[in-house]
Amino acid sequence: MRKKRKNAKGGNSLSMTMVYGLLFALVVVGMVIYYDSHIIAKGQTEIRTSDSTPATESAVYADITARTTYRLSPTPSPTPALSASPIPSPRSALTPTPFPTPRPSPSPTPSPTPRPTRKATPTPQPASDPTSPSVTETDPSTTPNSGSSGTPPTTQNVPPTPASAATPTPTPIPTPVPGEPVYINGFLDPRSVTPEIISNPSSITALVNKYHAVTKDYVPSLVPAKSSNGRYIRPEAADAWDLMREACHEDTGKTLYLTSGYRSYATQKASFENAIINKGLERAVSKYAYPGRSEHQLGLALDIATTSYKTISGSFLSTEAGQWMTEHAHEYGFILRYPSGKESITGYAFEAWHYRYIGVDAATAMHSSGQTLEEYLGKT
Ligand SMILES: [Zn+2]
Repeated sequence: MRKKRKNAKGGNSLSMTMVYGLLFALVVVGMVIYYDSHIIAKGQTEIRTSDSTPATESAVYADITARTTYRLSPTPSPTPALSASPIPSPRSALTPTPFPTPRPSPSPTPSPTPRPTRKATPTPQPASDPTSPSVTETDPSTTPNSGSSGTPPTTQNVPPTPASAATPTPTPIPTPVPGEPVYINGFLDPRSVTPEIISNPSSITALVNKYHAVTKDYVPSLVPAKSSNGRYIRPEAADAWDLMREACHEDTGKTLYLTSGYRSYATQKASFENAIINKGLERAVSKYAYPGRSEHQLGLALDIATTSYKTISGSFLSTEAGQWMTEHAHEYGFILRYPSGKESITGYAFEAWHYRYIGVDAATAMHSSGQTLEEYLGKT
């Protein structure tokens, strides 16, 4: 019995040896196969690709792509058929392909040198009529009492003219002392005479000119005027203005527009002083009213344009609306206050837009007589 186990043990070790031998053989074979398929085949493909028969190339490619996922080096451009170059050693295939040196980033395109901004050409100011004596009427909107605040201006709430309105200190122009009247190019310098302070500033036919003035703190009763940018005028003038505007629109299709109504003493003072500085004495005395001697402080003077051209203009009378005014304004109580040819009587140059409310009777009388207010009132 004992003998068999030995044999079995001896038999066992024999079979074990055989097993190991088998295993060893398998390993060897495996390695051979591996060597064959991965290394030798690679060399054979490269050698084989040089044999560029079109049929084989596509088969090669299919084969390569099918089998080679771990191609290490970029397909070098098919190098000319090489004589069977020695099969590269597997180590060379592993050398990492040098990363392409990063191309220097393109220098930022220099931002275009800013073209010098073209100086904005000053918007041409609406041409105000150079012949008008009270051109200051062009910009009463800057004045605080142009009425847009809703409360009609009174002497109390007339704030002093803002300093900014006063332009830099003008070169002092000798102010004539009232006494001997001084005329500049035919127009009286109002500072050279002492005006009469009128006693009836609230009268519809009150005369205010270079010889007749209202007091500094006179502020009439005022209401906001329609078709204007927040201007104020006397209530009687406002009613007539509404009737006249509707009638004009009915006849011509044009809508009259009020560019300027009531102006305070302070506003007038600033505009006269500005005019002396900016326009010169001659223009100032022929076109601008001296403070206290402007009809606009009565609230009965209206500077009229149309909604299609909201700026006073010397050519207003030649427009359809202007011609309608020449024919019909008196029917509503208005007169053209500074007509052409009457400068020596009115004291001011011609104004195509400045209308004065004096009531239908007086206006109609003057329309038919061709008189100015001074002539109508007998105060020339
Ligand atoms: Zn005016």
